[in-house]
Amino acid sequence: MSECSKKQVTCPRCHYDSPMTVWNSINADLDPELKEKLLDGELYNWKCEVCGLEIDVPFGTLYHDMEHKFMLFFSPWDEDEDKYKEIEVPLPSGMGFKDYIFRSVFGMNELREKISILEAGLNDIAVERMKFFLKLDNTEGLYQEDALFFLGVDMDPDKIKSSGWERGAIKFLRLREGKEPEILPFPMEKYYDYLLAVKMDPRMKPAQCTCIDEGWIRIKLQKM
Ligand SMILES: [Zn+2]
Repeated sequence: MSECSKKQVTCPRCHYDSPMTVWNSINADLDPELKEKLLDGELYNWKCEVCGLEIDVPFGTLYHDMEHKFMLFFSPWDEDEDKYKEIEVPLPSGMGFKDYIFRSVFGMNELREKISILEAGLNDIAVERMKFFLKLDNTEGLYQEDALFFLGVDMDPDKIKSSGWERGAIKFLRLREGKEPEILPFPMEKYYDYLLAVKMDPRMKPAQCTCIDEGWIRIKLQKM
């Protein structure tokens, strides 16, 4: 079940209060339309009932995917100094949540990416480790400053045939300032190499509910 509450938002223009629906938790399986509205930002739209001003009022939410078994504690603000602090959150108990993945996520692009990774059934730690090393090794001319986002796995048989990548391609979106966004495909084999590395590296074991991104990988790899 998704849960919401009403709060009053004070208009920055006329200073009168108007109500806003805040979704404290969103169940992606039961309420797919809420998921879409969250991901395209529509849930944050607010309109002043007095003067008609329309602004976005972001809020954090608990995102629950029952089918793929994960829960995300989402904050729309990507800059958070406590991002990697290992927090103990009261997780739901019971057998139903035994195989669940719990993560903190900061930022809207990061949320879209995390959902795509986990819906594709991939290991997010392996994907982030891959991103970290692709940049470190300067693969395909990637810089540290580039933003790299997981896009999806391409299993198109024609492409597999022409590229010779038998297990398909893992695709990333590269965003670089002053450049057009570019899609970079890599063989899935590469991902499986990183997955193996994650499984064999004890530093890659996350806390109960933590923010897993390239920054987290960097912190963990510094610990010998
Ligand atoms: Zn107003």
